[in-house]
Amino acid sequence: MIRIGLGRDIHRLVPGRPFLLAGLELPAERGELGHSDGDVLAHAVTDALLGAAGLGDIGEFFPPEDSAWRDADSMGLLKTTYKKVKDRGWKPVNVDCIVICETPRILPYREPIRDALAAVLELPREAVFVKGKTNEGMGPVGEGLAVEALTVCLLERE
Ligand code: MG
Repeated sequence: MIRIGLGRDIHRLVPGRPFLLAGLELPAERGELGHSDGDVLAHAVTDALLGAAGLGDIGEFFPPEDSAWRDADSMGLLKTTYKKVKDRGWKPVNVDCIVICETPRILPYREPIRDALAAVLELPREAVFVKGKTNEGMGPVGEGLAVEALTVCLLERE
């Protein structure tokens, strides 16, 4: 059996916060505002995994109003989620992601970002892809006020 999941997240970008993607800090003047560390890509992948397995969503598992998740390491949350999915017999086949922001450019950091996600999901790099896009200057993302991530994840189970 195979199942597909979709994840989407957006975070405001503010000065004085690190710009994190899959746990990697990219050089940037602004970073993601969030109750956790704000890692928009880790959150979108987490939601795609949970959706594919039919388990729920990131807000149910890690409620923002729960102080336990303040400044939480989002890659740690992804690891916890992956374990729940794996415990139910699911194995990721591949993950494909889009990160939308005006700056920084994603391409120079793409391979380490892929490796970071692949390591958590026990996948080869080839099974994890990450594309950077801009929003052509339009809307809050285009104005550099936010960063958005979209993810699809395929799971299989014997
Ligand atoms: Mg989020």
